[in-house]
Amino acid sequence: MNKERINHVPHCLILPYPAQGHMNPMIQFSKRLIQKQVKVTLITVTSLWKTISHKNLSSIEVESISDGYDEGGLSAAESLEIYKETFWRVGSESLSELLQKLSTSENPPNCVIFDAFLPWALDVGKSFGLLGVAFFTQSCSVNSIYFQTHDKFIELPLSKSEYLLPGLPILAQQDLPSFLYKYGSYPGYFDIVVNQFNNIGKADWILANSIYELENEVVDWLVKIWPLKTIGPSIPSMVLDKRLREDKEYGINLSDPNTEFCIKWLNDKPKGSVVYVSFGSMAGLSEDQTHELAYGLKDSESFYLWVVRDCDQTKLPKGFENTSQKGLIVTWCPQLLVLTHEAVGCFVTHCGWNSTLEALSIGVPLIAMPLWTDQVTNAKLIADVWKIGVRAFADEKEIVRSETIKDCIKEIIESEKGSQIKKSALKWKNLAKSSFDEGGRSDKNIEEFVNALAQF
Ligand code: UDP
Repeated sequence: MNKERINHVPHCLILPYPAQGHMNPMIQFSKRLIQKQVKVTLITVTSLWKTISHKNLSSIEVESISDGYDEGGLSAAESLEIYKETFWRVGSESLSELLQKLSTSENPPNCVIFDAFLPWALDVGKSFGLLGVAFFTQSCSVNSIYFQTHDKFIELPLSKSEYLLPGLPILAQQDLPSFLYKYGSYPGYFDIVVNQFNNIGKADWILANSIYELENEVVDWLVKIWPLKTIGPSIPSMVLDKRLREDKEYGINLSDPNTEFCIKWLNDKPKGSVVYVSFGSMAGLSEDQTHELAYGLKDSESFYLWVVRDCDQTKLPKGFENTSQKGLIVTWCPQLLVLTHEAVGCFVTHCGWNSTLEALSIGVPLIAMPLWTDQVTNAKLIADVWKIGVRAFADEKEIVRSETIKDCIKEIIESEKGSQIKKSALKWKNLAKSSFDEGGRSDKNIEEFVNALAQF
């Protein structure tokens, strides 16, 4: 560590958007900063603070701000649009009050690392003279597409069948994030992803939870316009060594992870025999799609561990859980523990960015079943660029049929293409680890950031 750092004791505030897929990578990043002698204070919204302040966040201090919905958060709001407007207004005031309070503390913050979904936090941080750092929890490829939409290089509604964008492979219309090719489908989310770039020019740094080698061409293009650094994979170091054994090493779980139950069940399954199935924390399958998936899993005759969240349990075929001896259905699981378990052979995923990076870093092959938002673009890259999985394509009714699911599972587990995918998965796993390890590209980028922080 250099001398300046000892004298200045850098202190970062970390402000994630209040959702599982945003909290996890930003909490993991906080832990990396702490390892590098940075003080970190995590800021959550009050409704979440009540839930997570008791959980193990090791040495991260936690403070809260109001999003205007202290009881219930987003689910208590009339709509996402109203939540977003309220959070912007109330959150700005509440963050200002917190910064005011912290400015008189023994070790006042000198930097705010805010989720790029909350661009107003940059303006608040700047008004207190803090270093302002945007954090992307989605891929650089997807963020570059949203940026070009913001700057009107991509015109909406889409009119071309194919798009050749800087640093990206040729993308068909339906490979672009769903908010673009289904323009108007989720106006609230569309605003959030595009508004990330309203004031991005004022950010001192932009950190992306990605690995340079994964997206090198698009990153090279973006660094010409932004102070961007890749710092991923933002997951616990122990995962990369397959030594993760305790749930407390993982970010946070906003639901009960059923840890013992899942691991005990996996323990007596043969190596590589289990299909892990999860669609993350937000997306819901339709009832028809849930049925097709259920029968696809059953017909594959593989063991499967399937996360069906509480709100989706009623969509399962009646009595399904009892018809198959080979499956375990849980409402939430410790995903990193599951992915690192040697019984797991492949992952049927919605291609959320965290799930994608986690599986890639652990070397688990994917069956890509994207539903919306950035997932469709991630699925394209998974299957055609990184070649770490196969795509389970939907039919004209937008349903992935049971036959397709069964065939994809067989393809990964039994076919020559499956062996190639496993080799490719291993290659990316090694690259992820070397980028993460001391002296690797992501580690150096973090080190560079921390040094700049200490000088600030
Ligand atoms: N996750 C988990 N248990 C589950 C399902 C998901 O711990 O049963 C975690 C997963 O490891 C990932 C996050 O929840 O870190 C989901 O993020 P992702 O970006 O994949 O999807 P999102 O929930 O944002 O759609």
